[in-house]
Amino acid sequence: MDDKESALSRRKFLGSAMAVGATALSARAVQQSTSDVEKAEHDSSITNPIGPDNAALHEENPDSVLPPPTDHANVKPFKYPFSFSHKRTQEGGWARQVTVEDLAIAKSLSAVNMRLTSGGIRELHWHAAGEWSIMLYGSARITCLDQYGKPFIDDVKKGDLWFFPTGYPHSIQGLGPDGCEFLLVFDDGAFSEYDTILLADWTAHTPRDVLAKNFGVSKDALIKLPKGELYIFQADLPKGSLEEDRRAAAGSVGLSDKSFSFRMMDMPPTHKTAGGEVRIVDSSKFQESNTVAAAHVIIHPGGMREMHWHENADEWQYYIAGKGRMTVFAAGAKARTMDFSKGDVGYVLQTFPHYIENTGTEDLIFLEMFRAGFYQDLSLNQWLTHLPPQLVMSHLHISDATLNSIPHKEAVVLPL
Ligand code: MN
Ligand code: MN
Repeated sequence: MDDKESALSRRKFLGSAMAVGATALSARAVQQSTSDVEKAEHDSSITNPIGPDNAALHEENPDSVLPPPTDHANVKPFKYPFSFSHKRTQEGGWARQVTVEDLAIAKSLSAVNMRLTSGGIRELHWHAAGEWSIMLYGSARITCLDQYGKPFIDDVKKGDLWFFPTGYPHSIQGLGPDGCEFLLVFDDGAFSEYDTILLADWTAHTPRDVLAKNFGVSKDALIKLPKGELYIFQADLPKGSLEEDRRAAAGSVGLSDKSFSFRMMDMPPTHKTAGGEVRIVDSSKFQESNTVAAAHVIIHPGGMREMHWHENADEWQYYIAGKGRMTVFAAGAKARTMDFSKGDVGYVLQTFPHYIENTGTEDLIFLEMFRAGFYQDLSLNQWLTHLPPQLVMSHLHISDATLNSIPHKEAVVLPL
């Protein structure tokens, strides 16, 4: 409640009651304000005489058109749809990104959604951020060089993850009949995919005689080098099998003994209920992914990711399928509800409580991403059922029976 509103509620209250203690006054003021909102929902205050501003967005955002009466005050936006992003399209595929420039509160992580055609290559490169990735469609061959100069090469399919640490050079090439589409999540909200260190950009900006000296070849041998970056380009599918490519790259030094990929969807769920399931992958399971932790959540229609918070990091979200809504409680009586659909990014600041409810008719599938080596959360149910019961009951004014009915451990996705 802001100061002005608080003063108004206080005046209303003082006009109809005798002086009471400050605590009781404040509780009554909040009650007054909430009932004003509830009343507004049933009189003409919520009518919209000139119709929706933007019919498609109106339809997509019911909780902004008519917020729940429990929403209050100014909470900064925590949603940005990838469909607003510029799509950089080149022969071989496309890329679009969401960074802190797009979503101001998203300081910890940024992301790129990328498509590569069959044979399409994301040019050999590296960058200052660590890159966590999930394949969303199709398959790709990925390469990476570890800190001992040993290569890692793998083929990744839908539901697989990969991670390229800061400074490790890598590439991605679409395979199969129709290439692939994937999501890259970087461990820095300010990272831009368009400022990476690209092989052909570097060689194009190095004196030709220096390149010849470096490679120990004549300048004539380098006559066809690209004049600038390639970024994404169409190429032929790899001629060699995965094993042949590994052998050719390994030479006499051998392959990396690290694994930069992880078969997430081949892993059994970390938690599963009748309401859905979640797979948690952090550096305890996927060792190389030591700056990014992830939870892949599936919520069935009517189900809900329970009320909870994360102690150790902001949460960056990507909605893979379905429709849902999330309320973030931002302390000081501030709360806001926003609606999410496939392709949207969401964000919750470290420690702020939230839930995610499936509001659609199909499974809601989304990623919870954290700039942290390890996943951490605590649930409201877990907390309330592991306190002296009298302490809880004197806060919430609930009965012993009600308290006993609350699930006594974290479900993550509540059973239906
Ligand atoms: Mn990269
Ligand atoms: Mn969460």
